[in-house]
Amino acid sequence: MYKVKRFVFNKMAENSFVLSHENGDAVIIDPGCNNESERRVLSDYIEKESLTPLSIVLTHGHFDHIMGASFVAGKYGIKSWVHIADKDEMVAAAQAAIVYDIKMEHAYPQADNFFEGEPVLKFGALEIHVLHTPSHSKGSVCLYLPDADLLFAGDTIYNCTLGFSNDGFASLIKVIREKILVLPPFTMVYSGHGLPCKIEELRLLASVRRLP
Ligand SMILES: [Zn+2]
Ligand SMILES: [Zn+2]
Repeated sequence: MYKVKRFVFNKMAENSFVLSHENGDAVIIDPGCNNESERRVLSDYIEKESLTPLSIVLTHGHFDHIMGASFVAGKYGIKSWVHIADKDEMVAAAQAAIVYDIKMEHAYPQADNFFEGEPVLKFGALEIHVLHTPSHSKGSVCLYLPDADLLFAGDTIYNCTLGFSNDGFASLIKVIREKILVLPPFTMVYSGHGLPCKIEELRLLASVRRLP
């Protein structure tokens, strides 16, 4: 019924996703494509699968997750969504990329739409429940599809373990405990970098490491 395609893009090995419904409705999550071949890989997939991209949704405003948003928005005539608390991250993205010796081929200082709190975003057949998980950045969110048992966790989770916090370890543990580990155990978690895993694996990790 739902399909997830993961692409690994740009120098930061960032995960970009195409989430699609069997009727062809699709959302592009964190498009990080930053050169011609990466852009072609993404658009070829969308064409091959006969998908209709309806929107871009960003888990947060860091440059490695948004570098391809301008291209995707222009190619498909769609808009992007991000949490309002990451507005400043979006503005600073191109400068932040330079620190990593990366040039954003398409500058993308602003998202088109900002949401607050934890709305349900509806794009065609896709209903995305936003979970606000501030820690990696103030506007970091996880995107949850309860009926598909899917979670896109951004950089709150990293390669099936704890993600990175810019706000202290305690806040990261808190959002993971309160918002992520409470989800059904078989929910598949796609993080911003690295491989996917299930909630039950994250729970096991949390118990082994005796997280506070
Ligand atoms: Zn990040
Ligand atoms: Zn990242």
